[in-house]
Amino acid sequence: MLKGKTALVTGSTSGIGLGIAKALARQGANIVLNGFGDVDGPKAEVAALGAQVAYHGADMSKPADIEDMMKFAAAQFGRVDILVNNAGIQHVANVEDFPVEKWDAIIAINLSSAFHASRLALPAMKAANWGRIINVASVHGLVGSAQKSAYVAAKHGIVGLTKVTALENATTGVTCNAICPGWVLTPLVQKQVDAKAVAHGWSNEEATRQLLGEKEPSMQFTTPEELGDLAVFFCSAAGNNIRGVAWNMDGGWAAQ
Ligand code: NAD
Repeated sequence: MLKGKTALVTGSTSGIGLGIAKALARQGANIVLNGFGDVDGPKAEVAALGAQVAYHGADMSKPADIEDMMKFAAAQFGRVDILVNNAGIQHVANVEDFPVEKWDAIIAINLSSAFHASRLALPAMKAANWGRIINVASVHGLVGSAQKSAYVAAKHGIVGLTKVTALENATTGVTCNAICPGWVLTPLVQKQVDAKAVAHGWSNEEATRQLLGEKEPSMQFTTPEELGDLAVFFCSAAGNNIRGVAWNMDGGWAAQ
């Protein structure tokens, strides 16, 4: 379905980003990976699906790096047709204790990076009259949770950015939508499970059960594969007129 198209997924060396990159690769898209940590493993996983794959190590907190990455992607594959703004980090603390540098980093990586990548991707998408911008927000783009001020602010912000990007391109073939996952068991969430286990003296299983029980009625994690399939749906012809939605896949979290 996506043969000949190129997808750039930020923060795709791990977790949800890698799941989305693999789902798009299965549909035939060329993939540009980005993110920290092991690169060879994720590259091999995507290449094994038959996709052409490239990698750029832009630090998404740095606008100049993002510019360099967008130029690199265009040089590799012609242009970016599908942009998935996914890179993100978390830090948990009350507002009065929240480290200022963590606030700045979360706003830069979880929110501003999507603005920069989108502004750089849009001209070529508009010229081709086809494009998909998929912002990985969170259920925290729809509701709040204590101790996550920067994350919740950034995710509400990205839902707003999604709506405006969709509106500005509403008469074109370029759509912009957000995906809002509840809990997904990735390194980002395992850290929160570990913190609960240490704080309460719980086992990993008990800490996981408590974490799900607090928020997610289904008592099950959403998977990167399920999120990848939603991204593929947005890229399909059925997604041609889906514009500016914040689609939660959260086990009922936001329905409460
Ligand atoms: P993860 O830690 O597994 O992956 C994060 C990715 O972002 C990694 O590839 C990492 O290298 C990359 N990254 C981090 N900082 C970066 C930077 N400065 N520059 C470039 N890359 C950077 O986390 P995840 O859970 O897969 O999170 C992916 C996205 O999904 C995030 O935006 C997160 O907020 C969102 N999300 C996650 C959950 C969840 O439960 N895991 C729920 C809702 C939303």
